[in-house]
Amino acid sequence: MTIKVGVVGYGTIGKRVADSVAMQKDMKLIGITAHSYSFNTEVAKQKGYKIFGANGDSDLKLHGINPEGDINNLLEEVDIIVDGTPKKIGKENLDKYYKPKKVRAIFQGGEMHEIAGTSFVAQCNYDEAINKNYVRIVSCNTTGLCRTLDAIDKKYGITSVYATMIRRGADPGDIHHGPINAIVPVLEMPSHHGPDVRTVLRNVEIFTTALSVPSTLMHLHTLTVDLNKKAKVEDVVELFNSSTRIRVVRNAEHLRSTAEIIEFARDLGRLRGDMPEICVWQEAIGVISNARNKLLYMQAVHQESNVVPENIDCIRAMMGFKDGAKSIEMTNKTFGIK
Ligand code: NAD
Repeated sequence: MTIKVGVVGYGTIGKRVADSVAMQKDMKLIGITAHSYSFNTEVAKQKGYKIFGANGDSDLKLHGINPEGDINNLLEEVDIIVDGTPKKIGKENLDKYYKPKKVRAIFQGGEMHEIAGTSFVAQCNYDEAINKNYVRIVSCNTTGLCRTLDAIDKKYGITSVYATMIRRGADPGDIHHGPINAIVPVLEMPSHHGPDVRTVLRNVEIFTTALSVPSTLMHLHTLTVDLNKKAKVEDVVELFNSSTRIRVVRNAEHLRSTAEIIEFARDLGRLRGDMPEICVWQEAIGVISNARNKLLYMQAVHQESNVVPENIDCIRAMMGFKDGAKSIEMTNKTFGIK
């Protein structure tokens, strides 16, 4: 069976999901929506994607794009929609379009967990999305936390987690956000990331804080994890090396910063220079064995791309494909993830 997929909201996440859908053998990209004309729409046109208007008579025709119809026409042709619109618009689209048209839909991390009642990270809870009508992919930060914490929890058991998210101020193409000369703490305790992790890893006790810095290249997380069992650094390295969508990076490779990781992704020939794996620094993994089995580590999270493979696996799960490990393997292959 070929799964027919539409993408509503063709921005940072939506355009990556569209390209990834087009690469899957068991999926067909039916089309994307364009809210207004931009270089994104122009590229979609050049790639031969069918473009549907998301905003009535916008400026598309003025710039030589004749939409195939509107969002309702797209919905008639698809099995499932991936909604990549900015936060809160996914909820509007659910009530206005997806529910009345009875079309399955995936939402992104800017929406609340309640929009779907199921939040998703493939390697943690693939089965929960099987045959669901609506699922939410958690945010880039939450996806990063869930991937490494799930691996640790399965091997050692987690008593509690304390984590700080040092977040990029804006995406590289975003001219509207900052900061450009400040470090901005999130003035809420805990930050929303901890509770969000518990929508996927329900039994993990986690407390998070967050701040934003003037960078566009990835988030950086520092974590302190209290374990139920003693751990050795070399075993944790081996655990991360053997877990999917986690990459151990090393000082010896000169991967000492988020900037070098992104340069590495470009050199690997990754589409758009993306690094969907969570990168954990080997030299920054530490264990304090005399104080309640504490594990410390640091990881980098490529905010623009790490949730994209999750969207692909979620499509398969919602369309009834039951083998999560197989789906992850199929998706990884198309992303060049080992
Ligand atoms: P974006 O602003 O880059 O893209 C959103 C797209 O939706 C734009 O092309 C915009 O024109 C279009 N759009 C706006 N209103 C629309 C409407 N009513 N109908 C159809 N299209 C509309 O946003 P983004 O960064 O891709 O974020 C999308 C979602 O993904 C959000 O929930 C966000 O929280 C989440 N997310 C973003 C990142 C990130 O770092 N960018 C990471 C993970 C998750």
